[in-house]
Amino acid sequence: MVPTNVIPFPEMQYSSRCGACPECGKTDGYVNLGKEHWFICRDHQTKWLGGYNLFDNWQNQTVSQTESINELLDSYREVLPYRVGNQLKRVSNK
Ligand SMILES: [Zn+2]
Repeated sequence: MVPTNVIPFPEMQYSSRCGACPECGKTDGYVNLGKEHWFICRDHQTKWLGGYNLFDNWQNQTVSQTESINELLDSYREVLPYRVGNQLKRVSNK
């Protein structure tokens, strides 16, 4: 299940700050969990915390959106994100 409110995040200039999927070096966007911005890769079902309160759209989120985000994040695997300058590498499950 993919919630409809995943925010597309094609701007690779942010990848050095927010990271990218360590498997493929991309991200499908992010979701807001309170002030936390969780970035995801749908292909690899990975998630990583991109930062806190970087974007102000988290304030407009509804409770039902937050619930669907919680379900999504629960099913995804937390990884250490790839960042520009790092080697792409597989990371172990936590
Ligand atoms: Zn990926």
